[in-house]
Amino acid sequence: MKKNIFMSPSLESETIESLSAKLIKTTNELTITNQELRKVQQEREEMLSNISHDLRAPITAIRSAIDYLNSCNTLQLSDYQSSIALIDRRTKNLETLIQDMYDLFCVEDTSKELKFESIEAAPFFETYYYDAIIDSRYDTHNMQLDMSPQLDAIISIDTQKIVRVMDNLLTNAAKYSAPDATITLKIYKELDQLYIMVIDQGIGIPQNDLQNIFKRTYTVSSARTPGSATGSGLGLSIAKAIIERHNGKISCESEIGKGSCFTIQLPIHPL
Ligand code: ADP
Repeated sequence: MKKNIFMSPSLESETIESLSAKLIKTTNELTITNQELRKVQQEREEMLSNISHDLRAPITAIRSAIDYLNSCNTLQLSDYQSSIALIDRRTKNLETLIQDMYDLFCVEDTSKELKFESIEAAPFFETYYYDAIIDSRYDTHNMQLDMSPQLDAIISIDTQKIVRVMDNLLTNAAKYSAPDATITLKIYKELDQLYIMVIDQGIGIPQNDLQNIFKRTYTVSSARTPGSATGSGLGLSIAKAIIERHNGKISCESEIGKGSCFTIQLPIHPL
């Protein structure tokens, strides 16, 4: 057979059609990667702009309170106390925001290893649940654990990080429901997946917001936040980043006025 000296051996075995199909596929992949990069960049810019806004609001409030205290020659004790209380509250907001930003950056930095360990899911979640519910924030809620004692599943997790996710979901469930409402932690396995659900009977989340609550750039209308319940708004983004580093998934179903159900899916280790 006559050999073409300009063709590499691998080229010889490929038709022009298959090569051009590969080229088109690679070009498409590059375009998608490019679009994804642009999206990440855009998200980061939006997040920075949200963060600088979120930082500015408490700093402005603290500055006004200090200016007020400085400008008064004689102060009523009640004025003094309310200014100090405002400074205290706004400083706590700042601390939460800065801590959450730091946690999010750390968990998204894949060069930082998580401390994975293989553990039995049932005793881990049982201990977590009974430790969590003694917290006074759940005092008036009707807390329930729905997990089969026979649940037999080994999972590989960074326990501290998963506790962080569970705390976020449970505190949100309490924060966004009436004091006497039921909050259920339901855990079961299906095939090679462990499902962890936090179900509440709270105010629910509008359908339009559902697709956004895990985004770090997203700030939900403060009109929906009951009383003094304010957070950094980064809790669910941190939860999502942690679960994704466990090769898992997190999602939410919700109905206004009926409640929300957050579901985490984690891979079970083969025995
Ligand atoms: P935040 O610190 O504001 O609670 P999160 O990231 O934890 O931040 O939650 C984002 C938003 O999602 C909340 O501000 C709230 O509007 C909504 N949300 C989260 N969990 C619930 C829930 N269980 N019920 C109703 N709304 C919720």
